Amino acid sequence: MEKWPIGVFTSVDAGLGVSLDFAQQTGVPTVQVHTPHKGSRSPESAKAFRALCEQAGLTVTAFFGGFEGESYADIPTVKNTVGLVPPDTRAERLIEIKEIADFSKLVGVNVLGLHLGFIPHDESDPLFGEILTATRSLCDHCRVNSQNVHLETGQESAEDLLHFIGAVGADNLFINFDPANMILYGCGEPIEALKKVGHLVRSVHCKDAKWAARPGEEWGEEVPLGEGDVNIEKYLRTLDEIGYDGPLTIEREIAHDPQRQQADIEASVKLLNSLKNTIG
Ligand code: MG
Repeated sequence: MEKWPIGVFTSVDAGLGVSLDFAQQTGVPTVQVHTPHKGSRSPESAKAFRALCEQAGLTVTAFFGGFEGESYADIPTVKNTVGLVPPDTRAERLIEIKEIADFSKLVGVNVLGLHLGFIPHDESDPLFGEILTATRSLCDHCRVNSQNVHLETGQESAEDLLHFIGAVGADNLFINFDPANMILYGCGEPIEALKKVGHLVRSVHCKDAKWAARPGEEWGEEVPLGEGDVNIEKYLRTLDEIGYDGPLTIEREIAHDPQRQQADIEASVKLLNSLKNTIG
């Protein structure tokens, strides 16, 4: 595949991202795909989805796992509801994310992305060890499927993420870098973070955001690509410097406003194509 194939987010049934038709219409060659609900994870639906993507000329570069009951309403709610961190749902979610990995394999996709949730910064916190064990178990499962696991960035600093990945010690655990999340969650300047974790980055999101007045306590604001504080040109130049040549997947999380989402994504494709011409 060419260097930096542009991509968008679509879904099998989750209603997030854009439709496959629209993805095809934008002319991009790749997609990342939001997790299908349990009822849509049959071998038949995997086969049908695979055929649809092939017909549309779209390569699926990753499946992104998510769970019922997750809420991104505000930062404290994320801590309590997202990923494999909340203790009450961890066991069932670990089973479910492995099912999602198996579904992805049936579609022919060897990358599973996910938000683990807020990992404690302090290694002596018992929760740290528990999440470590759960992540190892997921990585072991995916290794049997010849799949890699990509942790989405943003809910911790670059240093904390590196420390956690090192502690897991799995050879198939990498990073999906999302520069806007670093700003939204107030977890550090994204370009500096990218330089620190670059050796582990195997997929990226192209998303932009503005810093909150009180970063880390309240959300920053997600905005159209190129209109936020990431500095997209510098982002691509840094990806070039670290030797990243994988997909550039556009993410615009305004599924409640599909018309605006489509317009913003079309503008993002244009912006990335023009930057690719200059930098790539
Ligand atoms: Mg993202």
